[in-house]
Amino acid sequence: MGNTEGNLQWVERARRHIPGGVNSNNRALPWPMAIVRAEGAYFYDADGNRYLDYHAAFGPIILGHNHPAVNAAVREAMERVDLVGTAVTDLEVLLAEKISEHVPSAEMVALCNSGSEATYLAIRLARAVTGRPSIVKFQGTYHGWHDAVAMNVISPPERIGRKDPLSQGMLQEEIDHTFVLPFNNLEAVGELMDSRSDEIAAVIVEVIPHNIGCVMPKEGFLEGLRTITHANGSLLIFDEVVTGFRHDLGGYQRICGVTPDLSTFAKAMANGYPIAALVGKAEYMERLAPGGGVFFAGTFNGTPSSVAAALATIRELEVGGVHEHCFQLAEMAANGLQEIASELGIVMTVARFGSVFVPYFMEGPIESYEDLLRNDTERDIWFRRSMCEHGVFMLPTALKRNHVGAAHTEADIAMTLEIARQVLSSMPAH
Ligand code: PMP
Repeated sequence: MGNTEGNLQWVERARRHIPGGVNSNNRALPWPMAIVRAEGAYFYDADGNRYLDYHAAFGPIILGHNHPAVNAAVREAMERVDLVGTAVTDLEVLLAEKISEHVPSAEMVALCNSGSEATYLAIRLARAVTGRPSIVKFQGTYHGWHDAVAMNVISPPERIGRKDPLSQGMLQEEIDHTFVLPFNNLEAVGELMDSRSDEIAAVIVEVIPHNIGCVMPKEGFLEGLRTITHANGSLLIFDEVVTGFRHDLGGYQRICGVTPDLSTFAKAMANGYPIAALVGKAEYMERLAPGGGVFFAGTFNGTPSSVAAALATIRELEVGGVHEHCFQLAEMAANGLQEIASELGIVMTVARFGSVFVPYFMEGPIESYEDLLRNDTERDIWFRRSMCEHGVFMLPTALKRNHVGAAHTEADIAMTLEIARQVLSSMPAH
């Protein structure tokens, strides 16, 4: 963040022609930065500053940036076939077979381009299957930008228990058809199902709500959702857009042993290439067009570069060792941070699962978004921003998760901890 001449020029030009200067709500930073290169565990800004990347583009980058095997597979595919957009390609068949092989709920696979598209499609399909209009989501989870789900992620205290739309311009009727409940609270789900049993088409859940860091489902919560939805004739949708391929080739559903009706995958599936999948039971998936009456289309669905990237990423993950490496280093980072904080007398709870870790500036336990209202937001952001100033990029927004990838090394984690010690030692008292 030292020299800012190059960054400033790009950011000023960006502001002139791109609304807000960035192409996604969450990409704006409080300092001028434009990215020009990324490789392995690092990215570089327009002034040549290097950052160790824990952001991983919100999760897709699991093998490291610009991975040679992924690049080679994309190049090879593109030299043979680019987007034709009729019939099916050999690559799409191979990918659908691969996903079915690994993901317990994936009897069939439909490819689209983003997590939002996949959750949109999942909800439309659940409405068609059940003939019911409403869905249930949880406070603190994110499932994309469309009207049925774009609400109640990081809500201010006064909006908890009420609707908290993320955007202007959303259709009130859609908002009204989404019920928002506290995560890890089966009783609340049961009560709602009892009172509105013939309204609820689906319960959609981030199996680990990584959009508020790393909040683990309590023992029995996901199993309970399975039982309740089944009894009520509603569909259970696991949103594995973050957890899929990152925690396990079969998603978190393979780890927890609960099989949903439908699931959504994206992000780490293709190491940075745009692709997503809606997967699920054949009896439901066959309702999608053209076999069934649920309209499903998309010019770029199954585009060869992304499918080749997904196949190459899955191949690399199948070789083995990637998850173990990431989990071990994330544990080293989490334990190290926790130790430093306690040595310095700083209140911190480091949550971790697999390759994801997040320091919360509060005491545990943390079971829901409501618990996170105790997080010290000011300290959280100050810590992240200070880490960035020292070349360790942790998104400078409270509650955001950090990701370890295959390209991170033990030396990277050691350096991170050294810098964290320095930063936390100079943390201003309140
Ligand atoms: N579901 C989850 C759990 C996510 O984290 C995200 C993206 N952060 C989405 C869905 C939406 O995915 P996309 O940004 O690719 O539309």
